[in-house]
Amino acid sequence: MNPPFCPNPKCVFHNAREADYSKHWYRYGYHNTKVVGKVRRFKCKACHKSFSERTFSVHYYTKKNLDLKAISMAVKRSESVNSIGRQLGCNWDSITNRINRLGRSRMLAMQKQLPSLL
Ligand SMILES: [Zn+2]
Repeated sequence: MNPPFCPNPKCVFHNAREADYSKHWYRYGYHNTKVVGKVRRFKCKACHKSFSERTFSVHYYTKKNLDLKAISMAVKRSESVNSIGRQLGCNWDSITNRINRLGRSRMLAMQKQLPSLL
């Protein structure tokens, strides 16, 4: 996974396209997490801020991996948040968090596709 842009909003490469940013970062080792184990880190050559591959993931800063496809399908079936939580063995608050993340992810995907539809 290559970072698509610098996550630092004050960096010149924050709004850069992936092609422009491709040579402005370098690998900066790994760190271990309890959730997914080893996570690769990167460092921006312009602002010298470090970040990880999970920075760009829908799972960023989560403490438990939940099956997002199962949550998405349950929402489409109009299941309640509590019911989904019982099935996946977690709190309703975690389910609400993942539904919000999925919503933002879908909005970003739509925003990227919109220019090609106009
Ligand atoms: Zn940067």
